[in-house]
Amino acid sequence: MIDPGHNPGNFAHTREINRPVDIGTNRKECDTTGTSTNSGYTEAAFTLDVSHRLRTLLRELGATVVLTHDADRPYGPCIDERARLGNAARADAVVSVHADGSAAGNRGFHVILPAAVKGGTADTAPIVGPSRSLGVNVAREFARATGSAPANYVGGGTGLDVREDLGGLNLSTVPKVFVECGNMRDPKDVALLTDAAWRQKAAQGIAAGVRTYLRG
Ligand SMILES: [Zn+2]
Repeated sequence: MIDPGHNPGNFAHTREINRPVDIGTNRKECDTTGTSTNSGYTEAAFTLDVSHRLRTLLRELGATVVLTHDADRPYGPCIDERARLGNAARADAVVSVHADGSAAGNRGFHVILPAAVKGGTADTAPIVGPSRSLGVNVAREFARATGSAPANYVGGGTGLDVREDLGGLNLSTVPKVFVECGNMRDPKDVALLTDAAWRQKAAQGIAAGVRTYLRG
């Protein structure tokens, strides 16, 4: 399953996406608009583009691929529903595609892995290990395909970060990672993120990571 982060429609549905939802450990906004470049290329447009490219590549490899949304709904899905969609599909792997909105000068990609959390309906114990394996493979292949370096502002140069505050990870019962492909607020990263040829490389890297993970 591919989860394109955010939704272009979120910008016009502030009230709906601000509604808190239960993420097990606490409550959090249904969804967010995501970031954008200074010139207005939105993260939501970026994630859909990379997700479409990734879907094509994974299908060519023989995978059955489902998107959590294709901008075919007014906003969202909410983060709890994004998790439930992967769970209901019994997905072998879920990749949530994002780009970051950090300070200029902060560059590079990172893959976010679920922390061990338990609370309410959230219990990530069964997915922490396989998600790390998925994430390590995606990070390695992403670096190889794009030539990008691991983020210089998070993850200590490993290209990996572990978070306990993301509902889409906390509520997942199947292996899942977020890929932050670059920083939409850094001019050098923006030059990559806005380049269709680079986005194809990003999708190729993610696909290669998923393939390696699934083939064990
Ligand atoms: Zn995002």
